[in-house]
Formats: sequence, structure tokens, C-alpha cells
Amino acid sequence: METVTYVPDGTDCTVTLYQQDPEKYRGNIACDVCGEKSWFVKGFSTEKFDRAPCFAAHHASECDKKITLIPDDDGDSTSGDPATILVDLDKQRKQTIDVAAPAPKPGKESRWGTTRMYSSIGDYPENKSLRQILTSLSRNPDYPEDDATVKMVADNGRIVIQGTLADYLVSQERIPDAPIGEARVFWGRINNVNKNNGALWLNCGDYKTEPSILIEDEDLENDLMEDFRLKDIDDLQGADFIVVGVAFKAQNGKPYIKFGFTKYIAFRKYTLESRG
Ligand SMILES: [Zn+2]
Repeated sequence: METVTYVPDGTDCTVTLYQQDPEKYRGNIACDVCGEKSWFVKGFSTEKFDRAPCFAAHHASECDKKITLIPDDDGDSTSGDPATILVDLDKQRKQTIDVAAPAPKPGKESRWGTTRMYSSIGDYPENKSLRQILTSLSRNPDYPEDDATVKMVADNGRIVIQGTLADYLVSQERIPDAPIGEARVFWGRINNVNKNNGALWLNCGDYKTEPSILIEDEDLENDLMEDFRLKDIDDLQGADFIVVGVAFKAQNGKPYIKFGFTKYIAFRKYTLESRG
């Protein structure tokens, strides 16, 4: 898409207008046909092709502006919904035993005290469990429709969450009503990202009013980039998320979520179908 609607006043927003004032438009733009929330996609050039900057959206199925967003779901099929979902948040990061691996960057110590190598996040069973819940929710927002239970354990057996999964799941629309400071499993869709005074905000929409995930810790941000193999934090625009975290409210009432480690979060990213 090259033009979207600026939601507050219904005017057109072009790529040029957006680039002149991203703070104004970020989180406040929508497809001018189906009204789905939109986000800005930077242009880039490779040896093979140039991609002009544009807007993307998860368009409604009948929208004629629809271009395909491909979810990164390869190999993510589940063998039925388990009645009990066990998420071990205390699992060590996977460590390489490959002696031929290149030497780690000097001074790069993980929060676990051991230098680590990175592999696919899918190799971490705890994220995989979260991913499975997220994939189920993406297909059916009312999941689970039974009384599936969940147990999430951290720090040498400390129970973070235990009980009926449905009681702990909080969709992004309900985040403003979530109890402050209590662990819940939040899920929704990231519309846009921005950095402000060193803090990273993953925003569900308008960053002034709609929920965000706040990442203030630079180590956590670096882990996020590496563990989810993000070339650019913008790769999370349009992604579905699920996060075991705690809700807070800013003074103006805006809800936001904080979480501790990358294994507490999972994403279902989408890539734009490359055209031409
Ligand atoms: Zn549309």
C-alpha cells in the first residue's frame, strides 16, 4: 500500500507524509479500504532488488488491497492440544558443544554467567510451548475452549502460574483491565515499535493510549534481537506476541507490560510477500 488513512481525522497519509512526521502517524494509520491497523515498512535495496517503502496491514479477508503476509510457522504444527501445558521458564539456554564454533565475542557474558551460542529459538522447549499457545490463539481467539491447565515454573521450581489456562490468558483488548503487578499470559499483535530515551516500546497501536510491551533493559533488548534473529527491530511490526509478564499503568492510564527474559516471550512473525 502506498496510501493509508490517518485515523484521528480521516485524511490520507502517503509514504512521503509518514516519513516527514513518523511520530504523528505511528500507530494511528489504517487501510483505507478495510480499516485494519497498518504500519510503515522501510524500503531497502539488495543486490537483487529494491523495495520501496510502503504500508502493510493484516487486511480483512475481502479487502482488495490485500497483499500476502506469510507467517513464520514452518515446522510449527502441533499434535493436538494437550490438556496440560507445562512451561519451564527456568530452563537453561541451549549451549553449544560444537568445538569448531567460532570464538564468542569477547566480553559477551550472558545473564546466566556462561558464554552462550545461539540457535533457533524453536530449540527452546519453553518458547515452543508459548508458541503453540500463540498459534492456537491465532487460529481461534477463544482458545482454549476447554479447561486445559497450565503450569509455568521458574527459579528452581518456583511456580509463576498454575491453574486453568483460560484464567491467565489476557488478550490485548483486555490488558487495561488486567490486575496490576500480577503475572499473566498476555497476547496480541504488535503494530509498531519505537525507541524513546533508550527504552524500546513494542506498541499494539497508538503508543499514547493503547497497550505496549516495555523493554528498558539493554541486555534484554540485545537478547531479543539475537534469540529471535531480528535484523531490525521493525521485523516485529505486525507480529503476534505472547508474553508471560506483569501489567503496569502509566500516569495517564496507558497500560504496559514488562517481562524478564526472552524465554518468557514468543512471536509469530510475518514477512511481506515479495512482489516483482
Ligand atoms: Zn485492507
